[in-house]
Amino acid sequence: MDEDKYLEMLKRAKQLLPKGEETKRFEIPRVVIQNQGRQTFVKNFNEIAKALRREPQHFAKYLFKELAVPGSLGQELSLQGKFSMDFITRKIDSYAKEFVFCEECGKPDTSLIKVDRFYTMKCEACGAKKPVRSIK
Ligand SMILES: [Zn+2]
Repeated sequence: MDEDKYLEMLKRAKQLLPKGEETKRFEIPRVVIQNQGRQTFVKNFNEIAKALRREPQHFAKYLFKELAVPGSLGQELSLQGKFSMDFITRKIDSYAKEFVFCEECGKPDTSLIKVDRFYTMKCEACGAKKPVRSIK
């Protein structure tokens, strides 16, 4: 990867992160992609899900839907179709924005609570709750 690209990514990562001392520890691992034929593998998918503190299945379903492709989740995530690292990174950013960061205080210390078929995101830092869409 060239340096410009890397710096641009860092910049984006910083923009995504809310300001404040406490949240500095939060980092989404850099996505590791492998393109093979018409498939794309996200090698460290489970690690990213863990960093986001989200169920890998929920996160995977989001990507399948956003990318409109089938795929499967095991040790790594495999997707039908060829996708670039930048593209996947952007999708991960949007997932984090919608399902991880608190809208009120901007912190990532949130959890998803499922009641019936509906998800609510609860912030452990400020107590805010918001309904989030369910992914089918
Ligand atoms: Zn909050």
